[in-house]
Amino acid sequence: MQRRPFGPLGIDVPVIGLGTWNMERDDRKSAVAAIERAIELGLTHVDTAEMYGSGRVESIVAQAITGKRDRVFLVSKVLPRNATFEGTLRACEASLARLGTDHLDVYLLHWREDLPLADTFRAFEQLKQQGKIRAWGVSNFDETDLEDAWREGRPACNQVLYHLGERTVEHRVIPWCEEHDVAVVAYSPLGATGGFPRSRPLDELAKRVGATPREVALAFLTRRESGFAIPKSSNPAHVDELARQVELDAAAIAELERAFPLGAWHGMPSL
Ligand code: NAP
Repeated sequence: MQRRPFGPLGIDVPVIGLGTWNMERDDRKSAVAAIERAIELGLTHVDTAEMYGSGRVESIVAQAITGKRDRVFLVSKVLPRNATFEGTLRACEASLARLGTDHLDVYLLHWREDLPLADTFRAFEQLKQQGKIRAWGVSNFDETDLEDAWREGRPACNQVLYHLGERTVEHRVIPWCEEHDVAVVAYSPLGATGGFPRSRPLDELAKRVGATPREVALAFLTRRESGFAIPKSSNPAHVDELARQVELDAAAIAELERAFPLGAWHGMPSL
């Protein structure tokens, strides 16, 4: 699996990782096996959150990463309603306990609500000093939120909704992140459950480059140096497909841009 520098972190992270949202609804054995398979194939960026299954998903992740923690780039998120200074410290401790680890690689604010960013980020910095997180970032931030964040601290990444049918972050958010060396992590890159597009141009292009439509979609979304993607799967066979990488040339990218037009900026999208 190709790796590249993750924003300002100074370490290389796999371009494709694994999301874990809703895994508590799937067969647990299969979900654990899917995470294990992902790590084996180099999809070592594992994304989770205290919100997922109200903590149950973090315990699934814990089971899968036991004995392999040092190979995993582990990301979790604090819920906005918990993101006071004290609340963030407590939420992180609880996530660490559920995940069975002593540190996260990145800790994110899941989305912005009304609590002051300064308090959340002060807690992030304290956690960093204590070695409980290596870095922190944000999620679902548009460029105004990012400007506000930048006045208070230095996020390593912004995790945003980005898939073939939803490219609006390309207007303002990705350029802002690139200008400030903030990694862009595409969430729901397959269009979320049941949302993967059926498209003849995509099918034809995939056939031509000897890949599947999902492999092509992930290659498109990670075509820029700032980009990473975290598709979710609880099925090890599906993970095998997500891990197969395909190179797209400029003509293929232009074809996809035509088949899935950017459209006008319509505000920050989120799920
Ligand atoms: P997604 O990755 O776009 O799509 C997941 C769906 O695709 C699942 O139904 C999965 O089913 C299916 N799938 C995966 N690989 C497949 C394959 N090879 N063949 C057929 N189907 C396949 O959706 P997502 O879970 O919404 O997003 C990914 C991750 O982003 C989440 O898990 C989460 O970690 C993160 N996220 C973050 C936010 C945020 O606010 N920061 C919001 C949403 C999501 P199977 O499990 O059966 O393979």
